[in-house]
Amino acid sequence: MAHRIVTLPGDGIGPEIIAPTLELLEAVGEFEFEQHLFGGASIDAHGTALTDETLAACRAADAVLLAAVGGPKWDSTDPAAPRPEQGLLGLRKGLGLYANLRPVRPLPPLYGTSPLREEQIEGVDLLVVRELTGGIYFGAKTRTADSASDLCEYSVAEIERIARRAFSLARTRVSSVDKANVLETSRLWREVVTRVHAQEYPEIELEHVLVDNAAMQLIAGPRHFDVILTENMFGDILSDEAAMLTGSIGMLPSASLGDGGAGAQATPGRGGPGLFEPVHGSAPDIAGLGVANPLAMFLSAGLMLRHGLGLAQEAAAVESAVEGALQAGLRTPDLGGDAGTKEATQVVLDRL
Ligand code: NAD
Repeated sequence: MAHRIVTLPGDGIGPEIIAPTLELLEAVGEFEFEQHLFGGASIDAHGTALTDETLAACRAADAVLLAAVGGPKWDSTDPAAPRPEQGLLGLRKGLGLYANLRPVRPLPPLYGTSPLREEQIEGVDLLVVRELTGGIYFGAKTRTADSASDLCEYSVAEIERIARRAFSLARTRVSSVDKANVLETSRLWREVVTRVHAQEYPEIELEHVLVDNAAMQLIAGPRHFDVILTENMFGDILSDEAAMLTGSIGMLPSASLGDGGAGAQATPGRGGPGLFEPVHGSAPDIAGLGVANPLAMFLSAGLMLRHGLGLAQEAAAVESAVEGALQAGLRTPDLGGDAGTKEATQVVLDRL
């Protein structure tokens, strides 16, 4: 049966990079695509970045593929004006996407674009598993004239489900990152992760790393890491740091998962679709010029195949076609070349 995918092109270069991605997917499997307006495009048509109808369609899909939202047209200092990014938060919350996955695997043909020396990043293949719906970003906030506070809270259940996700995606080792020498939430985090490991995943190695040390080790010896498991704020910071190992934000995909998708077997309860999107934004400066790099979008489709639909072979085919295209010399302008979106798509399609 065909997999049902809701596609959200969004704004800027979004429509230009979603269209070739659907071509790519059609070359590896059977899919039914249902497209919806999202972000600024939805604000223009409906006055809100995410309509109830779009959210309902996403909930009913097997996976959601998003390009990017935003642009100067919707930038406003009026706090009451609708903003494209509200759609992103609404979607994450509405789909219960508590696990954010960011793989960092510098591709050999692009080693030269990393700020680190080639011998440092050679063979790096790590995954950051970040808790996305708890912690200090979601705790109660207070503000008076001369003070402010943000509450950091985690429950055992919240830590258990993200820990299971990380262990089930690890090949050899989980590096659980916390600040247990200072924070009570981190001590609970460490206790729960240790228990889930001992009871359910003893075959995987577990190490606990303090977040300041983890930030240093990511630069000093990134090859050490397999899966980095961490809470919301630490994950926000470390995943951007880890992303820079590849040297180019235009190449990075991400996945946000709820109780559905691969690696969710141990999580009881309702399954649900995951959300797959490139890390970059809508690049309004190059929208409409036909020069957008579609590769992060293609790799996001690869993550959707692997983590959202359990199609590991098809995912590997997409990833190796992208790598093969780069190996053969494909470079879009952001990578220092002159290939347009159409040409880049064709080179990748030829390798599938
Ligand atoms: P951006 O990622 O859109 O662009 C930064 C730079 O990278 C620009 O020069 C752009 O041309 C280039 N770039 C990005 N993606 C590219 C691609 N695929 N191919 C070639 N070049 C690419 O970030 P920004 O300029 O800070 O933000 C632009 C808009 O995107 C803003 O409205 C912002 O809020 C929004 N944004 C959305 C998301 C999202 O949808 N998840 C993420 C980040 C930013």
